[in-house]
Amino acid sequence: MPGKECTYPEGASWVSYPRIIPRSEHSLSRKEVWPEALKVIRRLSKFGYTAYLVGGGVRDLLLGRRPKDFDVATDATPEEVRKLFGNSRIIGRRFRLVHVYFKGGRIVEVSTFRRAPEPHELESMEDPRMANNFFGSPHQDVMRRDFTINALFYNPGDFTVIDYVGGWDDLRRRVIRSIGEPRARFAEDPVRMTRAVEFASRLGFTLHSQVEEAIREEGWRISRASPERLKEEVLGILLSGASGRAVKLMAELGLFQHLFPHSSEVILPYLQDVVNLLVKADGSLNREAPHAPAQFLSLLFLPRIKAAKPFGGRVTLGEVMEEVFVVTEFLREDLPLPAHLLHSTRELLLGLWRVVKGPRARGARRFRERNYFRAALDLFKVDTLAFKEDRSLLEPWMEEVRRRRKPPYRNHPRRR
Ligand code: ATP
Ligand code: MG
Repeated sequence: MPGKECTYPEGASWVSYPRIIPRSEHSLSRKEVWPEALKVIRRLSKFGYTAYLVGGGVRDLLLGRRPKDFDVATDATPEEVRKLFGNSRIIGRRFRLVHVYFKGGRIVEVSTFRRAPEPHELESMEDPRMANNFFGSPHQDVMRRDFTINALFYNPGDFTVIDYVGGWDDLRRRVIRSIGEPRARFAEDPVRMTRAVEFASRLGFTLHSQVEEAIREEGWRISRASPERLKEEVLGILLSGASGRAVKLMAELGLFQHLFPHSSEVILPYLQDVVNLLVKADGSLNREAPHAPAQFLSLLFLPRIKAAKPFGGRVTLGEVMEEVFVVTEFLREDLPLPAHLLHSTRELLLGLWRVVKGPRARGARRFRERNYFRAALDLFKVDTLAFKEDRSLLEPWMEEVRRRRKPPYRNHPRRR
């Protein structure tokens, strides 16, 4: 049994792996799993394949949290999965998997158990991107995942949780531990470092000391990751609900300056204020609203701009705009953000000074009609929460909003 060779985690050599946790010992209830994911597993099993739930879905349910989505791992190849589900599609090149689409918009991601390629296989490979597409056993699959808490399987057939790497104990101890040697795993894929920080912040876990040490030493490698993936990671962290904690932790570990090599210069000197704002935003902004990414990005820069152009000071909007452009230019150099996102970030930042100038100032009417108007007011509220700024500045604007919300006069009763 390959699982028996696993001597992980340290100090628990009496446990033989895989460890099967029966239904009576865990709190994961099948009722909380999307019926769509169960349907996929049932159909794969019916055709003789092994299929488990894996990843964040299992982790979150064991923690009593609501998962974002559910992933399935199976020994069926992507082509075989594709054949079993009419409503499915093979996606990805670097990492081929199948998306199964359901009515109502849910998508279940099905990936085939993978293994690390042997050195000779790597050498003879024409396209190095295919290194992620060697198929293997459930145990091999687990060994190439990132952290132990992300590597638990749930088998809905017999309600057991299957643990090859000590993830079950780590969930209870609330630690983020790499599978294998963290430095090597981070060198292999540097994005795992930001993932470690995001999980620790979002779940309120601590980083295992070796993970922490490895991030301090290997953090520089993050700049080698693809800019597209980094952009996704940064936005994911900002919208995680724990952006304040994550930014603080990244700064402490020295990861932040590698992730934002240019913007750090205008963010880190104001770190405490930035974290303070993000914490308030985590607790008060709607993270699903269209302007949320721009709102969180703006907060990274707000303390610096306020230091240069205080709210109460005699500054013109033109001067603020100049400052906004200077700092967001750093952001543009750091991440390949779409132009519209950079644009709304700038508009929101400038919007805060428009709020301060009041509804009678020049350009106020146009501002009120912009689609980011509400987003700017909400951002101003975050600032008042964080720094006890003068909330009365918001009142005349809120009055406007209330007035505009009155139902329009209708000549005819609405048809039912
Ligand atoms: P989230 O709640 O953010 O979706 P998640 O753990 O489900 O968390 P995903 O990005 O959806 O994260 O990935 C699903 C699973 O794939 C992870 O749980 C992990 O097992 C594996 N995984 C994802 N990214 C990596 C990576 N960079 N290296 C190794 N394994 C990874
Ligand atoms: Mg997930």
